[in-house]
Amino acid sequence: MVVSMLNQVTFEWGIKQFLILHVTSSMRRLDCHVMHELSIASSIVETVTAEMLSRGLTSIGKVGLRIGALTNVDPEALRFGYETMVVDTPLAGSTLEIESLLVKAVCRKCGLSFEAYDFIFICPNCESGDNEVTQGQELEISYLEAE
Ligand SMILES: [Zn+2]
Repeated sequence: MVVSMLNQVTFEWGIKQFLILHVTSSMRRLDCHVMHELSIASSIVETVTAEMLSRGLTSIGKVGLRIGALTNVDPEALRFGYETMVVDTPLAGSTLEIESLLVKAVCRKCGLSFEAYDFIFICPNCESGDNEVTQGQELEISYLEAE
């Protein structure tokens, strides 16, 4: 069984970084002074555990994640942190299936949508630097494989 998830783990970056964790209808915010993979892994464990309880799931196989390049998350560090954390919990044996997303932006001047390779936000059509990021900030749970 594959459970589609709407839960998002989103964040903004800056001097003070934080996580916003959307959990089904309710929303909880986790303050995180240092954004790192262990705190994200912990948020994922918390979210998936809550989903297991609310949906009556007995075991989890894969946890599908979508991670944008702008999050600066190291997928392997996240995977290691998660798999270490779930030992001896109801999530034991579950693994992360990580989909990495490139950075995309849309030009506010000419409307072109483009991939921002190497984080260069210059429109390849009109060379404007006035762009809006449309992809790359994702940090979300997309699905669960569960029983
Ligand atoms: Zn343009």
